[in-house]
Amino acid sequence: MGQYHHILLAADFNAESAQVEQRAAALRDTFGASLSIIHVMEPISIAYGGEFPVDLGDLHKELEKQAQTQLRELGQKLNVPQERQFLEVGITEKEILRVAEENGVDLIVLGSHGRHGLALLLGSTANAVLHHANIDVLAVRLNKDSK
Ligand code: AMP
Repeated sequence: MGQYHHILLAADFNAESAQVEQRAAALRDTFGASLSIIHVMEPISIAYGGEFPVDLGDLHKELEKQAQTQLRELGQKLNVPQERQFLEVGITEKEILRVAEENGVDLIVLGSHGRHGLALLLGSTANAVLHHANIDVLAVRLNKDSK
Protein backbone atom coordinates (compact mmCIF):
# COMPACT_ATOMS: atom_id res chain seq x y z
CA MET A 1 0.00 0.00 0.00
CA GLY A 2 1.05 3.59 -0.55
CA GLN A 3 3.47 2.82 -3.38
CA TYR A 4 3.01 3.60 -7.04
CA HIS A 5 4.64 1.19 -9.46
CA HIS A 6 3.86 2.60 -12.88
CA ILE A 7 3.18 6.28 -13.53
CA LEU A 8 1.79 7.59 -16.82
CA LEU A 9 2.55 11.19 -17.78
CA ALA A 10 0.06 12.72 -20.23
CA ALA A 11 2.12 15.20 -22.24
CA ASP A 12 0.69 17.87 -24.50
CA PHE A 13 4.07 19.60 -25.13
CA ASN A 14 2.57 22.88 -23.96
CA ALA A 15 5.00 25.57 -22.73
CA GLU A 16 3.55 25.25 -19.23
CA SER A 17 3.89 21.47 -19.15
CA ALA A 18 7.37 21.46 -17.63
CA GLN A 19 5.77 21.56 -14.18
CA VAL A 20 3.74 18.47 -14.94
CA GLU A 21 6.74 16.66 -16.41
CA GLN A 22 8.94 17.46 -13.42
CA ARG A 23 6.27 16.35 -10.97
CA ALA A 24 5.85 13.02 -12.75
CA ALA A 25 9.62 12.42 -12.81
CA ALA A 26 9.94 13.36 -9.12
CA LEU A 27 7.18 10.91 -8.19
CA ARG A 28 8.88 8.20 -10.27
CA ASP A 29 12.09 8.78 -8.32
CA THR A 30 10.34 8.94 -4.93
CA PHE A 31 8.50 5.67 -5.44
CA GLY A 32 11.14 3.90 -7.50
CA ALA A 33 8.37 3.47 -10.08
CA SER A 34 8.42 3.09 -13.86
CA LEU A 35 7.47 6.15 -15.88
CA SER A 36 5.69 6.10 -19.22
CA ILE A 37 4.72 9.05 -21.39
CA ILE A 38 1.70 9.33 -23.65
CA HIS A 39 0.91 11.95 -26.26
CA VAL A 40 -2.33 11.70 -28.20
CA MET A 41 -2.94 13.13 -31.66
CA GLU A 42 -6.59 13.75 -32.32
CA PRO A 43 -7.35 12.85 -35.96
CA ILE A 44 -7.87 16.05 -37.92
CA SER A 45 -11.33 14.83 -38.94
CA ILE A 46 -12.31 14.65 -35.24
CA ALA A 47 -10.75 18.01 -34.39
CA TYR A 48 -12.71 19.66 -37.20
CA GLY A 49 -15.94 17.79 -36.56
CA GLY A 50 -16.16 15.52 -39.59
CA GLU A 51 -15.71 16.25 -43.28
CA PHE A 52 -12.64 18.09 -44.49
CA PRO A 53 -12.37 18.95 -48.16
CA VAL A 54 -8.71 18.16 -48.85
CA ASP A 55 -6.52 15.09 -48.49
CA LEU A 56 -4.98 15.38 -45.06
CA GLY A 57 -2.68 12.38 -45.31
CA ASP A 58 0.50 14.41 -45.78
CA LEU A 59 -0.41 16.92 -43.10
CA HIS A 60 -1.14 14.11 -40.68
CA LYS A 61 2.21 12.47 -41.46
CA GLU A 62 4.01 15.77 -40.89
CA LEU A 63 2.25 16.35 -37.56
CA GLU A 64 3.00 12.78 -36.53
CA LYS A 65 6.69 13.29 -37.30
CA GLN A 66 6.77 16.44 -35.19
CA ALA A 67 4.95 14.76 -32.32
CA GLN A 68 7.32 11.79 -32.51
CA THR A 69 10.32 14.13 -32.27
CA GLN A 70 8.85 15.99 -29.29
CA LEU A 71 8.09 12.71 -27.57
CA ARG A 72 11.63 11.39 -28.15
CA GLU A 73 13.12 14.61 -26.79
CA LEU A 74 10.93 14.53 -23.70
CA GLY A 75 11.75 10.86 -23.22
CA GLN A 76 15.47 11.67 -23.30
CA LYS A 77 15.02 14.57 -20.90
CA LEU A 78 13.12 12.44 -18.39
CA ASN A 79 15.09 9.27 -19.02
CA VAL A 80 12.11 7.28 -20.29
CA PRO A 81 13.02 4.50 -22.75
CA GLN A 82 11.35 4.32 -26.15
CA GLU A 83 9.23 1.31 -25.28
CA ARG A 84 7.49 3.42 -22.65
CA GLN A 85 6.81 6.34 -25.01
CA PHE A 86 3.30 6.08 -26.45
CA LEU A 87 2.19 8.13 -29.45
CA GLU A 88 -1.49 7.37 -30.05
CA VAL A 89 -4.16 8.63 -32.41
CA GLY A 90 -7.70 9.04 -31.13
CA ILE A 91 -9.72 10.84 -28.52
CA THR A 92 -7.26 12.09 -25.91
CA GLU A 93 -8.95 10.97 -22.69
CA LYS A 94 -9.91 7.59 -24.13
CA GLU A 95 -6.38 6.87 -25.29
CA ILE A 96 -4.89 7.92 -21.95
CA LEU A 97 -7.26 5.58 -20.10
CA ARG A 98 -6.72 2.72 -22.57
CA VAL A 99 -2.92 2.89 -22.45
CA ALA A 100 -3.06 3.19 -18.64
CA GLU A 101 -5.22 0.08 -18.36
CA GLU A 102 -3.28 -2.00 -20.89
CA ASN A 103 0.03 -1.26 -19.20
CA GLY A 104 -0.84 -1.70 -15.55
CA VAL A 105 -0.50 1.99 -14.74
CA ASP A 106 -1.49 2.94 -11.18
CA LEU A 107 -1.11 6.74 -11.36
CA ILE A 108 -1.88 9.15 -14.19
CA VAL A 109 -0.23 12.58 -14.00
CA LEU A 110 -1.59 15.43 -16.11
CA GLY A 111 -1.99 19.20 -16.01
CA SER A 112 -5.07 20.83 -14.53
CA HIS A 113 -5.53 22.46 -17.91
CA GLY A 114 -3.68 22.83 -21.18
CA ARG A 115 -4.68 24.19 -24.50
CA HIS A 116 -8.36 23.99 -23.74
CA GLY A 117 -8.75 26.95 -21.47
CA LEU A 118 -6.93 28.83 -18.77
CA ALA A 119 -10.28 30.06 -17.50
CA LEU A 120 -11.36 26.64 -16.30
CA LEU A 121 -10.42 25.17 -12.97
CA LEU A 122 -10.05 21.82 -14.67
CA GLY A 123 -9.54 21.52 -18.41
CA SER A 124 -11.51 19.06 -20.42
CA THR A 125 -8.91 16.29 -20.50
CA ALA A 126 -8.20 16.40 -16.75
CA ASN A 127 -11.92 16.42 -16.05
CA ALA A 128 -12.71 13.50 -18.33
CA VAL A 129 -9.80 11.37 -17.11
CA LEU A 130 -10.63 12.06 -13.44
CA HIS A 131 -14.24 11.07 -13.98
CA HIS A 132 -13.59 7.84 -15.81
CA ALA A 133 -10.38 6.46 -14.32
CA ASN A 134 -10.50 3.73 -11.70
CA ILE A 135 -6.93 4.48 -10.63
CA ASP A 136 -5.40 7.57 -9.00
CA VAL A 137 -5.09 10.71 -11.09
CA LEU A 138 -2.89 13.66 -10.17
CA ALA A 139 -3.96 16.92 -11.82
CA VAL A 140 -0.97 19.22 -11.36
CA ARG A 141 -2.29 22.74 -10.84
CA LEU A 142 -1.06 25.03 -13.58
CA ASN A 143 -1.40 28.74 -13.38
CA LYS A 144 -0.41 31.51 -15.70
CA ASP A 145 2.51 32.81 -13.66
CA SER A 146 4.18 29.52 -12.76
CA LYS A 147 7.11 28.22 -14.73
P1 AMP B 1 -6.57 20.30 -21.49
O1 AMP B 1 -7.68 19.35 -21.60
O2 AMP B 1 -6.11 20.78 -22.84
O3 AMP B 1 -6.90 21.43 -20.58
O4 AMP B 1 -5.28 19.55 -20.92
C1 AMP B 1 -5.14 19.16 -19.57
C2 AMP B 1 -3.97 18.22 -19.46
O5 AMP B 1 -4.28 17.01 -20.18
C3 AMP B 1 -2.65 18.70 -20.05
O6 AMP B 1 -1.91 19.50 -19.12
C4 AMP B 1 -1.95 17.40 -20.36
O7 AMP B 1 -1.35 16.84 -19.18
C5 AMP B 1 -3.12 16.49 -20.79
N1 AMP B 1 -3.31 16.52 -22.25
C6 AMP B 1 -4.00 17.43 -22.98
N2 AMP B 1 -3.93 17.15 -24.28
C7 AMP B 1 -3.16 16.03 -24.39
C8 AMP B 1 -2.71 15.23 -25.49
N3 AMP B 1 -3.04 15.51 -26.75
N4 AMP B 1 -1.95 14.14 -25.22
C9 AMP B 1 -1.62 13.83 -23.95
N5 AMP B 1 -2.01 14.55 -22.87
C10 AMP B 1 -2.77 15.63 -23.09
